[in-house]
Amino acid sequence: MTKSVVVLTGASRGIGAALARQLAKPGTRLITLARRQDSDLAAHAAAQGTELEQIAVDLSDTAAATAVAARLATSLPRDAKRYVLINNAGTVSPVSSVDALDDAAAINQALNLNVVAVMLLTSRFLAATRGLQADRRILNISSGAGRNPTAGWGVYCATKAALDMYTRVAKQEQDADGAKFVSLAPGVVDTDMQGVIRSSDPDAFPALSRFQDLHSTGKLAAPTDVAARIAAYLERDDFGSTEIDDIRNYN
Ligand code: NAP
Repeated sequence: MTKSVVVLTGASRGIGAALARQLAKPGTRLITLARRQDSDLAAHAAAQGTELEQIAVDLSDTAAATAVAARLATSLPRDAKRYVLINNAGTVSPVSSVDALDDAAAINQALNLNVVAVMLLTSRFLAATRGLQADRRILNISSGAGRNPTAGWGVYCATKAALDMYTRVAKQEQDADGAKFVSLAPGVVDTDMQGVIRSSDPDAFPALSRFQDLHSTGKLAAPTDVAARIAAYLERDDFGSTEIDDIRNYN
């Protein structure tokens, strides 16, 4: 019997890849979504007795995201004790000052990945699990950037602020139905995204040297540590009671 079903976006790299390994447990059915698949994860899941399905999809393509959300909803097992959706995939691009933010395709890609795909997956996930005698948890990986403005991150900050407010609305609306929501900032983590940040144009991103310093002085959190803390957070009895949260509050 499947004890737990976990749907995780952005599992091919960074925080998501580390989290996938934390969540691959016996009795878990793990469904991952990213553009690329991870052959090492397949081997790890097999060794753990985890049923793994890796779906290759570009979640910034709303048609593809709509189709994959629908397909997921019809394929979820009905007998699990817990259903978890982790919306982790995200992008920090485009990094640009507001007066130069004129690339509509890049802006749309970020909005689609960071916000629209989350809404599409969540809606289908809720519909597919409604009425089941099961624990249902939706974890959105947000950012401090959604809570504090950062020059050069007009798009990124706006998408993460949108994710936070969407999570608040979802909690208000869906509480009675038993689904629990959290929008969680993971801290500053040593992933490819930080590499993208460090390669930003200093004219577009004035905080560049701060992020370079965090890296050179070893102050970035390790993805495995952050993933372990997020995995523990997912188990909390009070999950959902603080819908806007930060993993750094749980040292
Ligand atoms: P990352 O290393 O850049 O990994 C991003 C993940 O998202 C990858 O698995 C990537 O897979 C997937 N992804 C990107 N574009 C996608 C697309 N179009 N369709 C489907 N999947 C896509 O990022 P990370 O640092 O682990 O970040 C994970 C989450 O944490 C993000 O939401 C980010 O905003 C948030 N966060 C990170 C930090 C940090 O310091 N790292 C800080 C605050 C918040 P593919 O490339 O294979 O598609």
